[in-house]
Amino acid sequence: MLQFPDLPALTGGSLLQLPAAAPPIQRLLLDSRRIETPADSLFFALRGPQHDGHRYLPELYRAGVRQFVVEAGAELPGGLAAYPAAGFVVVPEALAALQTLAAHHRQRFKLPVFGITGSNGKTIVKEWLAQLLSPDELICKSPRSYNSQVGVPLSVWELTAQHTLGIFEAGISEPGEMARLARVIQPTLGLFTNLGTAHDAGFASPEEKVAEKMRLFEEVDTLFYCADHALIHAAACRQLRPARTRLAAWTRETRRYAAGEAHWLVRGEEASADRTVVRVEQAHPQPEEYTFTLPFADAPSVENALHGLVVLLWRQVEPAEIQRRLDRLQPVAMRLEMKQALHDCYVLDDTYNNDLAGLRLALDALARQTRRLRRTLILSDVLESGLGGAELYARVAALLPAAGVVRLIGIGPEISGHQDVFAGLETAFYPDTEAFLAAFRPEQFRQELLLVKGARRYGFERIVAAFQQKIHGTVLEVNLDALVHNLNFYRRRLLPGVKLMVMVKAFAYGSGSAEVANLLQFHRVDYLAVAYADEGVDLRQHGISLPIMVMNPAPDSFEVLRQYHLEPEIYSFERLHDYLAAARRAAMPPVHLKLDTGMRRLGFGEEDVPELGALLHANAAHLRVASALTHLASADEAGHDAFSRGQLAAFARMTPLLEWALGYPILKHALNTAGIVRFPQAQPDMVRLGIGLYGVDASGQEPDALRPVSTLRTTISQVKTLPAGHTVGYGRRGEATAHDRRIATLAIGYADGYDRRFGNGVGEVLIRGQRAPVVGSVCMDMCMVDVTHIAGAQAGDGAVVFGAGLTLTDLAARIGTISYELLTNVSERVKRVFVAE
Ligand SMILES: *Cc1c(COP(=O)(O)O)cnc(C)c1O
Repeated sequence: MLQFPDLPALTGGSLLQLPAAAPPIQRLLLDSRRIETPADSLFFALRGPQHDGHRYLPELYRAGVRQFVVEAGAELPGGLAAYPAAGFVVVPEALAALQTLAAHHRQRFKLPVFGITGSNGKTIVKEWLAQLLSPDELICKSPRSYNSQVGVPLSVWELTAQHTLGIFEAGISEPGEMARLARVIQPTLGLFTNLGTAHDAGFASPEEKVAEKMRLFEEVDTLFYCADHALIHAAACRQLRPARTRLAAWTRETRRYAAGEAHWLVRGEEASADRTVVRVEQAHPQPEEYTFTLPFADAPSVENALHGLVVLLWRQVEPAEIQRRLDRLQPVAMRLEMKQALHDCYVLDDTYNNDLAGLRLALDALARQTRRLRRTLILSDVLESGLGGAELYARVAALLPAAGVVRLIGIGPEISGHQDVFAGLETAFYPDTEAFLAAFRPEQFRQELLLVKGARRYGFERIVAAFQQKIHGTVLEVNLDALVHNLNFYRRRLLPGVKLMVMVKAFAYGSGSAEVANLLQFHRVDYLAVAYADEGVDLRQHGISLPIMVMNPAPDSFEVLRQYHLEPEIYSFERLHDYLAAARRAAMPPVHLKLDTGMRRLGFGEEDVPELGALLHANAAHLRVASALTHLASADEAGHDAFSRGQLAAFARMTPLLEWALGYPILKHALNTAGIVRFPQAQPDMVRLGIGLYGVDASGQEPDALRPVSTLRTTISQVKTLPAGHTVGYGRRGEATAHDRRIATLAIGYADGYDRRFGNGVGEVLIRGQRAPVVGSVCMDMCMVDVTHIAGAQAGDGAVVFGAGLTLTDLAARIGTISYELLTNVSERVKRVFVAE
């Protein structure tokens, strides 16, 4: 067990201060927002381009964390004296120390460990391999896609003496990274999934990339891969042969098999709608041929499943047993979905697996939710922990308070057998999922946030289905990972020290304000902005504590502003006088001054500045100014750049006069999304990010840099055959044609926000990956599309209205509007589903 006094020797660091008390270290902690058990956690103050863990030391110390690894040369906020009871070890690089400790932990166990890398499919292959081997082994594996420099050490830290097999994935983006991961994983077996073009940027050539990835396998006994990836095969021969590594390759090419380059020949693949039959020939120990059915038809899934299949053959599992295990393979749910459910409940759906590491991640996700709803955990037996039941469930129970769980529903014999450790909670236990469903009464759940976390075999998707409202087949799927990707894209464009305000007006551009704001708060943006006071109140009621600017506060909302600490934008003398009157009666939140530099919409003009300055100066005792802002009229159009520069120049003339009159500095901000990219030198103190966060490239300069955030999905309600010469829908506008057509009716109409202008062939949707044009008029609750050319299209199929493959920018142009309008028009009756990978 790891003890604080061992740290200097293990990490090569030096002791700065011993802690007052130091229980053995159980948890490695990297994020002050994820504290579970502070006393036995060791915090690593990691530093990166946009991040410095040392900044959070006061917060961690207040929460009870007492054991720290910090970096030489970093400043401890408040000085060492601020942490009298804490222990500190100083190292050159905290990340390296984390990896060294994980490598040391790994070394304590003698067991076979798979290392998995490759361009695609790492997570799926890892999950499937674990599923295929779980009948024989107690497996410790990386949770989700924990394959980075930070994720790998945290994964390996979960190993215990009871585990009989480890399966860890490793992902890299630059030269030099794999050696560090190999040192932590210390794999004895290797699996190289494939080679694609992902992350090419960090490498000079594909050869360099494959050589770097191959470094994971330099110490393995056996490497599994597909020899048809010629670069992988060549690198394996070159780098691993000299070390006598066994190359256990499979191939689809008879030539390679005949030449002895592969152990298994896969041939005669016959794909049907949802499965593929393969024949696999094996040369050793004696020639054999087997036939297996893989429960997938798409090429990537088949390749991923074949990797797992050859590992089972190599382990000499009986063919009939192999088939049984293959039959149980399921597509891997890569994302944690948040779904709206009955009676104002929300369900976090995580029903793929349930080991201790996965449970921790799911509880983290629950803890990060700011919705003030009662929290219930529906949990199956926790598998593969390598711990005895009593210790395991005691640990599970210890994780629950930090996530705010007040009610536990345990399903399974093991968890039911350890009820006593959950004494502090409201509880119910069931032997299996059927027993729960038989007793299920929807009315027992109201306004709750439910985490449904169960191992595959418990089939918890049935529980999720029972909770979900099935009232309307149209949803707006909001990808929170894409949103974070876009946030970071703009963050990288900010000059050092420039603050970020994010516009979450209009229901966060249609994406759902509370959820988006929650995520932005977690990612520590500086300010949020909404249009109206009500929107700000809603955010506060959902637990958002960031400063919030309200752009259009009505005079009768001042009391609300005060109560919820919302900061108004003031754009006229009239409003300023009203607000000053209120501020003389009671302390009011600070204001933001809107300056008009050319938009001619709202704001003080340049000629108003002397009077404005004098008025603010005279009332300095009652009112504080937080910032001054202006808005560019045409930030996205190069043709108006001279005008934009004129606006920025006027702003730069006006603000010093205001600051001089006030006698203190205020934040100055002028740029929206397009401005951030197009006027990078004009970032005074803060910028205001809007549409770009939601994945729309407002500047037209970085078409591939952003990820689409919102996907509007609907379903086909019915498919009809329309004989030649007939028309479709209202006003008989769906034109008659000379041939028969198949027409699908979709569950979306203009009341959902699907614009009527998309009617009669202007709009298209994606069904089974193909475009289907709208026929006839768009109706209130439905519309019709032509699916004559789409084989197999049928009722119940999904249709993408906009999203990847059908961009907002393109659709908006077709009806002469802008992406902003399409996004914000999606009506509130359309359910929002939030997904994270
Ligand atoms: C909406 C808004 C923004 C954001 O604009 P985008 O073009 O969406 O980036 C910035 N400033 C003000 C004042 C706004 O109203």
